[in-house]
Amino acid sequence: MRIDSNSVIGIVGAGIMGRGIAQVAAKAGHEVILYDNWDGAVDNAMKINEKELSKLVQKGKMTQEMKDKTISLMKPTMQINDLAPCDLVIEAIIENKEIKQDIFKQLEDICNDVVIASNTSSISISALANGLKRPDRMIGMHFFNPAPIMKLVEVISGLQSNQQIIEDVHALATSWGKKAVYVKSSPGFIVNRIARPFYAEALRVYEEGVSSFATIDESVRSGGKFRMGPFELMDLIGNDTNYSVTQSTFDSYYQDPRFKPSLTQQEFSQAGLLGRKSGSGFYKYEDGKQIGREEALKVSAAKIKINEISVYGDLGAANSLIELFENSDIKVSKNEGSGYILVNNIKLYIANGKMASEISKELNEDNVAQFDLSIDYENASSVTISTSLRASENIASIIAALFNQIGKETLIIKDSPAMIVARTISMLINEASSTVTNGVCDEYSADIAMENGVNYPIGPFKWADKMGIDNCLTILNNLEEFYKDTRYRADRGIIEKSIIGGKYYEWR
Ligand code: NAD
Repeated sequence: MRIDSNSVIGIVGAGIMGRGIAQVAAKAGHEVILYDNWDGAVDNAMKINEKELSKLVQKGKMTQEMKDKTISLMKPTMQINDLAPCDLVIEAIIENKEIKQDIFKQLEDICNDVVIASNTSSISISALANGLKRPDRMIGMHFFNPAPIMKLVEVISGLQSNQQIIEDVHALATSWGKKAVYVKSSPGFIVNRIARPFYAEALRVYEEGVSSFATIDESVRSGGKFRMGPFELMDLIGNDTNYSVTQSTFDSYYQDPRFKPSLTQQEFSQAGLLGRKSGSGFYKYEDGKQIGREEALKVSAAKIKINEISVYGDLGAANSLIELFENSDIKVSKNEGSGYILVNNIKLYIANGKMASEISKELNEDNVAQFDLSIDYENASSVTISTSLRASENIASIIAALFNQIGKETLIIKDSPAMIVARTISMLINEASSTVTNGVCDEYSADIAMENGVNYPIGPFKWADKMGIDNCLTILNNLEEFYKDTRYRADRGIIEKSIIGGKYYEWR
């Protein structure tokens, strides 16, 4: 039997995810049988769903009639045999392979020709199918929390999954208003794999004493347009959860340094400083709100007026910044050169993976600085800079005066290769490329997944087109050279793209 809009949907596990998925399926008009082996869970799930749907009615986003229909379509039960009429059962119980497999075997006996979809975050779909009578009918359907709100569903095929079922479930999730993407079973699937560098690079920058939580977060929010900085987000997710996902990804990839967990996060997690839920993590919280907010490190602008700057060569990803200067009262002269801005006697480079100090040494010039990558210089509230270890102390305030004239604040960090945003984005692109190279998904799905599963402003391949793949490759190569760490090795997909040239989205 094909899975379609008439299918009866079973949900096993009425916890955070299961009850949300039940709501989504019932809203789409399916009869939903919601099973849990703990009575508190089903009662609680129905109460929360009722409350959430009532809110939608109050806000005018759903009619009372639609709410009543949705509620009536959800049938809570504590008897697993009640799942017998189901065509598709979505499992969302505890993250334990043996317990999940035990349920699947029972379902194969109880239901006729059932498709079983696991909402697992970390267990291989191929492994879950092992030992089933019909391993071809086992797939992954990975929703994101909260399921009624988050748009993404990763539709995951294991080695034995039936392709027609995968396509039918993809179509089904799409008909539920979700953004469904095809994924090949592999550790972390798409989102939990590609997102690792978002946390890892911030933690590394912090551990090297380059910058504080608040400055890193503000740089990422302002320059990267992410809704939350990495430390704020880790506090929201919970340091224990985030650390254990990182650790399991690291182990799954046989300790590849790309996924190496952070000692800082381990320490916070072991100390019980878990973030919002424990009242304290990288920041402190009271009643769910951050208190005693730390400030990012800002530079006071020198009280001078910059009348003129010279631009030497192409600044690539920062050309839009030059346009902002041209549209201000600053006179901009353009010259041949290696890609920098000359302001007073300071050479200002866009972060390219080398420290400003290294560039300063190569040039044998002291007053060298760099600024971080931004997705949108025009609307960014601040620009982050770092100065050469050899530079005079006052150059930061002169650069701040320059940015001040186009309405930007200036944040400062200790000199560091690829700064914060350039480094984080290059590593996100690298991981996304590696995911595609490994055949887990295509570029378009990777972008859809990151935009809808974790609300990235744009997906990594769109970023790659924006910053230029050659630029990304240069940053990765420079980071690898600096750290002598294969964590930064460029994925072959990036190397190949750089050789072929062109953009990822050219053909769309
Ligand atoms: P949860 O603890 O909120 O809910 C799990 C529910 O399963 C509980 O109500 C429990 O009573 C029930 N349960 C446990 N063992 C059972 C059994 N043998 N038979 C029937 N019911 C049983 O967990 P959750 O956060 O909803 O996670 C469920 C699954 O979804 C896990 O595999 C998790 O990895 C995955 N997931 C979680 C999130 C998230 O953010 N919480 C996101 C995506 C995927």
